[in-house]
Amino acid sequence: MFDHPSFDQHERVVYAHDAATGLRAIVAIHSTARGPGAGGCRFWQYNSTHDALADALRLSRGMSYKNAMAGLPLGGGKAVVMIDARSPKTPAMLEAFGRFVDSLQGQYITAEDVGASVADMEIVATRTRYVSGLPRTAVSSDGNPSPKTALGVYLGIKAAVKYKLNKNELRGLTVAVQGLGGVGFELCKLLAADGVRLRVADVREAVTQKASHQFDAAVSAPDQILFERADVVAPCALGAIFDANTIPKLQTSIIAGAANNQLATAEDGARLHAAGVLYAPDYVINAGGIISVGREYLGGATAESITAEIHRIPVRLTEIFERSSATHRPTSELADEMARQLIAEAR
Ligand code: NAD
Repeated sequence: MFDHPSFDQHERVVYAHDAATGLRAIVAIHSTARGPGAGGCRFWQYNSTHDALADALRLSRGMSYKNAMAGLPLGGGKAVVMIDARSPKTPAMLEAFGRFVDSLQGQYITAEDVGASVADMEIVATRTRYVSGLPRTAVSSDGNPSPKTALGVYLGIKAAVKYKLNKNELRGLTVAVQGLGGVGFELCKLLAADGVRLRVADVREAVTQKASHQFDAAVSAPDQILFERADVVAPCALGAIFDANTIPKLQTSIIAGAANNQLATAEDGARLHAAGVLYAPDYVINAGGIISVGREYLGGATAESITAEIHRIPVRLTEIFERSSATHRPTSELADEMARQLIAEAR
C-alpha cells in the first residue's frame, strides 16, 4: 500500500474477506482529522486487487477534500467491494459488509455509491449504525441526495456566470447539460424556471424526449454536447471527460456540473485555465448531496439549515474564482490546496 501510486498519507486501509458470502472488500480511510471518514461504498467488478485498491485510495482522498470544502465535520473514507459472476452482490454479502463496517467502530461511515442502492444500505444498516443516506430520516423523505446536489450545482452555475460573464441573471443564456439522470434532470427544472435555453444529451432517448417536451430543450448527440456553443457546459454524467483531446474543442467559457472527477488528470485543470475556461471544481459544486446526507447522519439539522448550507457552495466557489484570478493559477489546484489546508488545520 505504501508504494502504491495512489497512496497519499492515508491513515488506514483495511481488507475484509468473508468466505461464506464471497465478500472481498477494502475500506480506505484517508483522514479522520475533521471527523469520521465518510464516503460511499462501490460494488464493482475490478480487474485486480491493485485496481480496487487504487479506486479506494483515490476516492477516499477525494472524499476528504469534498467533506472539508463542504464545511462538514467529517473526514474522508471509501469502501470498494470486488464482485464478479462467482461472488455477486447478495443480501448475505451486504450483511457481511455491514459487519465489516461495524468492526471499524465508527471510523468509517458508509453510504450508497456506484453499484449500490438505498435498499442495499438498509440491509447494511441491519448490521451497523455507521451508515448514512437512508430513507425516512428526520429531514428527508426518501434518502435521495440528487435534488440537493442539483440545487448546489444550480447555485454554482449562477456564481460562475456572475463571475465570468458579469451577469446577475441566467435568463436568455444557453446551458448544455450532459446526462439527465437524478441530478441532471432536476438541474434542468431549476434552469428552465429561470428562463435558460437548454441543450441536453443522454444515451437514454426517452429521457431526452421528456426534456425536449418539458423544457423545450434542444437535443444534442451524447458525444457532441460538451462541444456545443453554450454559455455554460454542465457535465452531469461521466467522469474523466476533460483531457488534451477534448479541451481544445470546447466552445464555452464556463464548466460547472455535478459529475465526479471531470478532469482526466490534474494537468487538465491547468489546460482549462490556459484555455480561458472557468472551471467550477467538481467536488466543491456537487457537495449538496453530501451536505444533506452528512447532516442527516450527524443529526441536529433541519431542512432549512441544510438548504442554508447548500447556499454557501456559491460563496466558496467565488472565493476560489477570485483566488484563481489573483494568482493566475487553475481553480482545481486552488481547491485542492484549500482542502488540504482545512484538513491540516483540523489535524
Ligand atoms: P444517474 O446515473 O442518475 O444519471 C446519469 C445519467 O447520465 C443517466 O441518465 C445516463 O443515461 C446518462 N449518461 C450515461 N452516459 C452518458 C453519455 N455518454 N452521454 C450522455 N449521458 C450519459 O447519476 P446522477 O446521480 O444524476 O449523477 C450524475 C453525476 O453526478 C455522476 O458523475 C455522479 O457521480 C455525480 N454526483 C452525483 C451526486 C448525487 O447526489 N446523485 C452527488 C455528487 C456527484
